[in-house]
Amino acid sequence: MKKSYKTRTQMVHGGTRRSQYSEVSEALFLTQGFVYDSAEQAEQRFLQSGDDEFIYARYGNPTVAMFEDRIALLEGGEAAFATASGMAAVHGALASVVKAGDHIVSSRALFGSCLYILEEVMTKFGVEVTFVDGTDLEQWKSAIRSDTKVVFFETISNPTLEVIDIKAVSDLAHNVGALVIVDNVFATPIFSKAFEQGADVVVYSATKHIDGQGRLLGGVVIGSQTYIRKTLEPFLKHTGGAMSAFNAWVMLKGLETIDLRVRAQSESAQEIAETLYQHPKLQRMIYPGHRSHPQYDLVSNQLGGGGTVLSIDIQGGQKAAFDFLNRLEIGLISNNLGDAKSIFTHPATTTHQRLADHHKAALGITSGLVRISVGLEDYRDLISDILSALDG
Ligand SMILES: *Cc1c(COP(=O)(O)O)cnc(C)c1O
Repeated sequence: MKKSYKTRTQMVHGGTRRSQYSEVSEALFLTQGFVYDSAEQAEQRFLQSGDDEFIYARYGNPTVAMFEDRIALLEGGEAAFATASGMAAVHGALASVVKAGDHIVSSRALFGSCLYILEEVMTKFGVEVTFVDGTDLEQWKSAIRSDTKVVFFETISNPTLEVIDIKAVSDLAHNVGALVIVDNVFATPIFSKAFEQGADVVVYSATKHIDGQGRLLGGVVIGSQTYIRKTLEPFLKHTGGAMSAFNAWVMLKGLETIDLRVRAQSESAQEIAETLYQHPKLQRMIYPGHRSHPQYDLVSNQLGGGGTVLSIDIQGGQKAAFDFLNRLEIGLISNNLGDAKSIFTHPATTTHQRLADHHKAALGITSGLVRISVGLEDYRDLISDILSALDG
């Protein structure tokens, strides 16, 4: 696979390993183990496995390896390790690096489970964590210390879609030799240029755009050959966060269409954003690809597109937001994102329900806020569904 091939070509062919049958579609190797020709070969493989030599599926599997190689090509990283879920990826990426006494600086606007790992798990094992407002460079500057080991953030926050300046934060982190680990779900691997901007490790919940059809959980960590093979892999292969071969096969097939899907969803999100901008029933419309976004210039430099998610703040608070959701005909009320089906979420009462009121207020999670993950339906149908649900 030539590195110079374009994304769509790489996503259809990259990482393919054909068996002796020369199948067209990638094989699903549903096997936990692998047979050795001799006792000597078994001994040798445990000593040092080559590229296409496997031992046990918790360590690696040919179908999982195809997925890892293909997603590494997409993100532009040297290597990848696939995990059972996005959270196994976030946990593994962090826990494999730090030890008691180390210091992490993280943005505060985090997915609930990411917050749990940083606030509860890391601190329980003696790792100190400092939280900052990720969009405020001064806060990063004063929080990052000479002994900071890791800097962590979600590149686009959920659900208010604030964008963190990867290059500026990475420069600060690298000045003290800290590793920059980013959760890049909202940016999507199609629009991400995270490595170019300075991130060292990129994490995805594959449950979102990579599957893209709401079927399975999965995650992946992408980074340098040294980080993946020497730091992350020993940790994950012994702690059991591996992705199953079946899930890897579905994710691998998801990558064949991800460029088409994410671009189509993003174009629809743009159309919806243009239509909803300054709509009289809305307090606010937030979409990173719309010129009204407060960080529009940063978005244009950092990302190749606005993404598949927008948020609207409906006038009239929770009652108006619930009425809106209940009137939708095409849009589904659920909480995943990146799906082919458009999904509408009321964060204040669902995904972010447990946050204290002052915490919600600080993150901009108002009672009228609705997050819209734009799917693959025709955008004209989505727009009329949204407009008639707003009009009542
Ligand atoms: C969904 C999500 C996760 C967790 O992924 P799972 O696959 O559900 O474990 C982590 N971070 C972000 C930003 C997410 O949206």
